[in-house]
Amino acid sequence: MAETVCFNCVLDSTVDELTLVDGVCQYCRGYRELENQINDFDINSYGAKLVETLRRTSKDPDYDCIVGISGGLDSSYLLTWLVSIGVRPYVLHIDTCWDGEVATRNIYNLVNTLGLKLNTRVIDWGDLKIAQRAFFKANLIDCDVPQDHCFTSVLSSVARNSGIRNVISGHNLFMEYVLPVSWSYNSNDARHIRDVVWRQEAKRLVNFPYMSPTYNYIGRKIAKSIIAHRPFLYHRFDIHATKEMMNKKFGWEDYGGKHYESEFTKFFQGDYLVEKFGIDKRKAHYSNLILSGQMTRDEAVAAMEKPTMTELERFRLRTLVRNKLDFDDTEWVNLFSPTKAAHADYKSSHFLKLQKILFK
Ligand SMILES: [Zn+2]
Repeated sequence: MAETVCFNCVLDSTVDELTLVDGVCQYCRGYRELENQINDFDINSYGAKLVETLRRTSKDPDYDCIVGISGGLDSSYLLTWLVSIGVRPYVLHIDTCWDGEVATRNIYNLVNTLGLKLNTRVIDWGDLKIAQRAFFKANLIDCDVPQDHCFTSVLSSVARNSGIRNVISGHNLFMEYVLPVSWSYNSNDARHIRDVVWRQEAKRLVNFPYMSPTYNYIGRKIAKSIIAHRPFLYHRFDIHATKEMMNKKFGWEDYGGKHYESEFTKFFQGDYLVEKFGIDKRKAHYSNLILSGQMTRDEAVAAMEKPTMTELERFRLRTLVRNKLDFDDTEWVNLFSPTKAAHADYKSSHFLKLQKILFK
C-alpha cells in the first residue's frame, strides 16, 4: 500500500483517522475554516474585557484567577501577558516529580522577575508511579493520561475550594489545532485510570487526585464553581519572536521540544511513542506551524529527518524512567515490544461516552 501523506502538512498514515480530499487532510481543511476567526481576533480588546470579568467573578480578595505553570512556553507566556494587562494571578505549579532542570529554572526566573508568589502542589509520588507503570505495562498509546489527569484535577479543586473560580489556560488553535484524535485518550476519564491500574498493578490508589468527570462538568456548567477561560484560543503569535522575547525579559530557556519541560513527557513522546507506535508528535506540531505560516513544508520534512533527541539524551532518559518507575527486565523489554493494546480494552466513563454522543 502506498504511503498516504497530506500534500499540505506532514501528517501521514500514522494518523489512523487521516482522510485526504484532493490530497489535503481534514486537519488542514478544518484549520482553513477557522482562519477568519483567528485573523479577526484582537487580543487587546479581549484582554480588557477579561480583566473586568475576572475581577467580578473571583470571590478572593487577592487573586483574580489561577494559572497553572509548567515552565513550558505556553503557560509562561500566558502568565506574563496576564500580568501585563493587570490581572492578579494565583500561580500554581503542580509538581508530578518529573520537572526537568530547565523547567524548574524557568519557573523560578519567571515568578521572581514578575514579583509573584509561587504555590506548589506535589502529587503523591507513590500513587502516580503506580498509575504510570500501569499504563506502560498495558501497552497503551496515551501513557500521559495519569499526569494530565493530575493537572486538571488539582487546578479545578484549587479553583473551586479557594473561591477564585477562574482558571486560565493557554490553549491556542494557532499553534495547537492539529492534535490527531487517535494519538491520545481523554485524560479526564478517572474510571479508565482506575481500571488500568487495577488490572495491571492490582492496586487501588488512595492519594491519587481522581476527579469525576460528572462532578467536574457540574462544577463548570451548572454550579459555576469553576470558570474556564482560554484567552489565547484565537491569538496569533510568532513562536520564534515569543521565545526570544521570553528569553530576554524573563531568562526563559528553550528545552528542545514541545512539552519536553517534563522529563516524563519527553521520554513518552520523544522515545516510547516513536519506538513502539511509530508515532512522532513533531508531525502534529510542525503541521500546525506550516498552517500558521511559521514553517515551510520543506523545512518540516527536513526537521523530521533529525532524531527527536541525541543517543546520549535517550540513554539518560531511559535510565531515569526505568529507575524511577522500577521496571524489572521483563517489564522493560515489554515496554518497547510491538505488543499494543487499545484504550477501548479498558473501562471508560459512562458520562464521557454520553457526552461524546450528545455533543458530537
Ligand atoms: Zn494536512
